[in-house]
Amino acid sequence: MIAFQYRCSRCGKTYGRDEVRYLCPDCGRSYAPGMPLVGVLEAELDYRDISKRFRRGRPDWDLFSPVEREHYPAYAVGNTPFSPAPRLGERLGWPKLWIKNDGLNPSGSLKDRASFLVAAEAARLKEKTIVAASTGNAASSLAAVAAAAGRRAVIFVPQSAPRAKLVQMLLCGARVVPVRGSYDDAFRLSLEYTRERGGLNRNTAYHPLTIEGKKTAGLEIFDQNGMRIPDAIVVPVGDGVIISGVYKAFYDLRAAGLCNRLPRLIAVQAESSAAIHDFIVSGTFRPAASPATIADSISVSVPSNPDLARRAVLESGGFSIAVSDEKILEAQALLARESGIFAEPAAAAAAAALLTDEARQRLDPAWQVVLLITGHGLKDIEAPLSRLRIPAAVPADLSAVPDDMATE
Ligand SMILES: [Zn+2]
Repeated sequence: MIAFQYRCSRCGKTYGRDEVRYLCPDCGRSYAPGMPLVGVLEAELDYRDISKRFRRGRPDWDLFSPVEREHYPAYAVGNTPFSPAPRLGERLGWPKLWIKNDGLNPSGSLKDRASFLVAAEAARLKEKTIVAASTGNAASSLAAVAAAAGRRAVIFVPQSAPRAKLVQMLLCGARVVPVRGSYDDAFRLSLEYTRERGGLNRNTAYHPLTIEGKKTAGLEIFDQNGMRIPDAIVVPVGDGVIISGVYKAFYDLRAAGLCNRLPRLIAVQAESSAAIHDFIVSGTFRPAASPATIADSISVSVPSNPDLARRAVLESGGFSIAVSDEKILEAQALLARESGIFAEPAAAAAAAALLTDEARQRLDPAWQVVLLITGHGLKDIEAPLSRLRIPAAVPADLSAVPDDMATE
């Protein structure tokens, strides 16, 4: 049995593990769909116990998990590659550039980490159904994890959801409910569904274990980096939950005495969906008026978790950057050509940040900088196609092959 409690990120009140399920019961009362979540809960672990039991020579990362391993689905999530990218690094101006490639999770995105932990929690609570509202990666991830875990996934999507991701959900056997309306309507309906008909709601940050699941990406970076803290981690930001999870990893590690500083967390948003960036810069939260970026996974008007995302950036000594779609596509091509990694546009936004003057001014070239690649490029081939020309077919005859294809 794991000992931890939930603490409300707004009022600080604490709750036992099974006393609450989603938002802080006090603060959450003022929440309504269409606004950022209020009273998001954070898992507060027994750090003294972790520091007593953790062995650097034989690390037991389960000590940082708020769900017992016996409930885990039999499904390989996480443990994604962490490797240097020297050619890309030289090109961008940070020779010690590293990549954490979370596009290599089973459904192709980092969100599998959150789906995995919520599925484990569903097993612990004996909840057969997991419910979510999403337009993309979180939903296809939930569908995949639920299939492996033998749970039923009920997914509310706005009518306009991308077809490729719908295929992924349907093929994995999820019950997909397209809703006539916006993402906010789908979100509201998913909350009503779990309230009236049961099941466990996986909506991002609404269920506190989504943050804990995403935390494992940060723990792995620390472990794979020889238990050293990188100087900076560049994180694509939409709802602000991934960056909150990465922050929580290093917060936990520090609280358990395993490190004494945090990596600078650099939040990257698309210019048209920059509500969290604007919040960090101005201190005032305003929804993004009309998100219209090609980076669909970080396209959001009202992010669910702006408070914790802002705290992650400010407390780590980081900063935020907004990048244009043009820079995102340029960075996507550069990533592919110089590191061999095909990232979806939202994930390529991390690399796009390193093309900006601001990054050059604020990130020391001697630093170890980590790009967190959050989703696989094959999830959305339409965006890069706009910059590519597929060569015309030639007759199967060597004389027809252009000369400039000579080998080196
Ligand atoms: Zn509260």
